[in-house]
Amino acid sequence: MEWPSKLPLSGNTIFTVMSKMAQEYQAVNLGQGFPDYPMNSLLVERVSQAMKAGFNQYSPMAGSVKLREVLSKKIASLYKTIVNPVDQITIVPGATYGIYTALTTILKPGDEVIVFDPTYDSYIPNILANGAVAVPIPMNYPDYTINWALVEASVNINTKAIIINNPHNPTGAVLSKEDIAALRAIVHRHQLIIIADEVYEHIVFDKKEHESILKYPDLLERSYVIFSFGKVFDCTGWKLGYVVSSPDAMLPFRQLHQFLAFACNTPMQEALAAHLETPDHYLGLSDFMQQKKDYFQNLMAQTSFKPLYTGGSFFQCYSYAHLSDEKDTEFVQRLVKEYGVATIPLSPFYSNQEDRKVIRFCFAKENSTLEKAVERLKGV
Ligand code: PMP
Ligand code: GLN
Repeated sequence: MEWPSKLPLSGNTIFTVMSKMAQEYQAVNLGQGFPDYPMNSLLVERVSQAMKAGFNQYSPMAGSVKLREVLSKKIASLYKTIVNPVDQITIVPGATYGIYTALTTILKPGDEVIVFDPTYDSYIPNILANGAVAVPIPMNYPDYTINWALVEASVNINTKAIIINNPHNPTGAVLSKEDIAALRAIVHRHQLIIIADEVYEHIVFDKKEHESILKYPDLLERSYVIFSFGKVFDCTGWKLGYVVSSPDAMLPFRQLHQFLAFACNTPMQEALAAHLETPDHYLGLSDFMQQKKDYFQNLMAQTSFKPLYTGGSFFQCYSYAHLSDEKDTEFVQRLVKEYGVATIPLSPFYSNQEDRKVIRFCFAKENSTLEKAVERLKGV
């Protein structure tokens, strides 16, 4: 029989495809975004202490109280906004889940959601799974800025929400104060909900301030803002994050969450609650990643690839348009097979598979890994 599917056209994501290929060809993997260096050993120790101390049963549905309280303190100190841990923060099993649950909370079939092209790979399938419609707005090339006039022109009576991702994956683009002002005007004028994916909040370069939605109470009022611990503490495999919103928005979110995951794993929440008491554990991340980025860019200057601007995240895009006419999905396969380096092509992130001949590198790697990759790329 033909089995029903919410996403009958979906194959494996480009991250699965490229990581599998990297393994198969024993390539240096600068594709899928995860660090290859060990996470903080104190945090690992804290998980094992929590388990030994008996934190092994269900946590509250909204997440560990201690963890939500320390997150509320962090938000107050970083963004000067008071968020009530009781009814404005929910711990979730990863940002991907937070985004899906937020979209599923608000969407009805036929609703339209504005996304940007290129867009993080889970957003459009999440929208489609809800019977809603994704409306992609192209980002300007090559600086990946946003044409807000185009955004406003796409709004109609069915438009329910806009998804922003700041810093942006796959490009590394960051939003400025002016972008936030333009967003504010549009969402207020048209009563739109914002889904803000801020998993890279602590990786913003050149000493710039992260323009979090949490800084702006009038925007938080109409938003779900989504974070991931995986990106902050080098533990992408933990799949743990949190969602912040107004109490009015959090109620229906939790009505759904309680029947999806119900709760997240307890010992890791305990460990994170203790770890987050020391802001130094996350405040140094931008400087650390900036050094990685600069180190990688300097190495890459020995190759023929042309860098594009990145303002945050642990990704750097390069153009190879002057080197080859090959489609980006084919070019990255050749890089794996002939040069032993795995990267991520950008066309799978475009709703129309647009191919600008740009590929993404993840530089959250040991310097020796970056050196090995670049040594191989010199021949391209
Ligand atoms: N959003 C963006 C922009 C990401 O890059 C990622 C993954 N790195 C996620 C969401 C998913 O985060 P998580 O692993 O916590 O689900
Ligand atoms: N967010 C990671 C990246 O951009 C990958 C996560 C995944 O594989 N789904 O590379």
